[in-house]
Amino acid sequence: MLRKPLMAGNWKMNNTVGEAVVLTQEISNNFERDWPDHVDVVVCPPFVDLKPAKTVLEFDRTKVAVGAQNVHWEPAGAYTGEISVAMLKEIGCEYCIVGHSERRTMFGETNEHVNRKVHALIEGGIAPIVCVGESLAVRDDGTAEEFVCAQVRAALAGIDAGAAKDVVVAYEPIWAIGTGRTATPEQAQAVCAAIRATLAELFGAELADTLRILYGGSMNVGNVDSLLAQPDIDGGLVGGASLKASSFIDLVKACL
Ligand code: PEP
Repeated sequence: MLRKPLMAGNWKMNNTVGEAVVLTQEISNNFERDWPDHVDVVVCPPFVDLKPAKTVLEFDRTKVAVGAQNVHWEPAGAYTGEISVAMLKEIGCEYCIVGHSERRTMFGETNEHVNRKVHALIEGGIAPIVCVGESLAVRDDGTAEEFVCAQVRAALAGIDAGAAKDVVVAYEPIWAIGTGRTATPEQAQAVCAAIRATLAELFGAELADTLRILYGGSMNVGNVDSLLAQPDIDGGLVGGASLKASSFIDLVKACL
């Protein structure tokens, strides 16, 4: 297999520092030493939990990465409430989610913002997990692939092939996030294949074949196998099911 699966947990705005330490410790305790040979795993807690989670994982020498859920593109300055790439880098973040649909719809994040964040992350050596996905109205229109591929192009504008090797794309149909409604494996595969074709247009087929495309949207132990069986789905970005160590570990195991 060309691509190593990636299982990413998006904790969203859940878990105080104390709770984050407990959850990270539970994940660490149930994580087998040889799993990182077969799967990359990342937890994405709220900013304040990043360092405590990283400390637990480092102490245990558990090869689970930590990632942020957002970042600002400027290196420093008068941006009240924002966090820079260098701040994330210093605490050992290896990934950062950008363009999550909740940030796009609730906090006004645009394709242009996403693109700036992607540039800043790549320059800072943090792998962006670029979220894309259509609303139900767009899906019902029959233009989901077109819409999603336009988001991919916008997010990656100005990135050249040499800089794109760590980019991860997460296809998350908005209508499937936190709703219990999953895209069928065929629906998810069709869009992920279109994303890979877009990546091939941007960066060449050889590199596109190595880039990971995740599915996100009510992924759980009941549907993970059929989703991962699709040729263009290389793992998951998981919300609800990442908040309990047992269900997250089950999803990691599905990647082995
Ligand atoms: C997400 O927030 O990225 C997500 C996919 O959430 P859930 O798994 O809860 O649908």
